[in-house]
Amino acid sequence: MAVERTLSIIKPDAVAKNVIGQILARFEGAGLRVVAARMMQLSEAQAQAFYAVHKARPFFGDLVRFMISGPVMIQVLEGEGAIARNRELMGATDPKKADKGTIRADFADSIDANAVHGSDGEDTARNEISFFFSSLDVNGR
Ligand code: ATP
Ligand code: MG
Repeated sequence: MAVERTLSIIKPDAVAKNVIGQILARFEGAGLRVVAARMMQLSEAQAQAFYAVHKARPFFGDLVRFMISGPVMIQVLEGEGAIARNRELMGATDPKKADKGTIRADFADSIDANAVHGSDGEDTARNEISFFFSSLDVNGR
């Protein structure tokens, strides 16, 4: 399997619960490396742009309001099959449906406050990484 990079966001609910370290440890434990990271509070315009693919969906307003409700921790994860591996670690969007032992099963409260974001494919990974990071900020080995 190819070495890939994917974008991961620890969302405001998980940052507020003080579990950044526990979530990063899940990535590291699964063989993914953090190769770029920044902590910030998104503006409304930034959250709308990041989730633009969902702008026609009924939950878009709630999603944007939630994503700007507090600081987020944003990282690029690198490793073998990183995009799918991160999605496996995250679990289903709705934590009630997430497999036992996944990040969302263990740390998320609802489909809105669902602890983490992860890119869902090669194109979104590339676009989402460049949304937050310059190539100079990404430290490959
Ligand atoms: P993310 O993109 O945040 O990693 P995801 O890829 O699992 O999550 P998407 O379908 O991309 O899920 O939806 C983006 C976000 O929008 C979800 O994380 C969730 O918070 C919210 N969302 C998705 N579907 C619904 C829904 N049916 N009702 C309410 N909120 C939803
Ligand atoms: Mg998504």
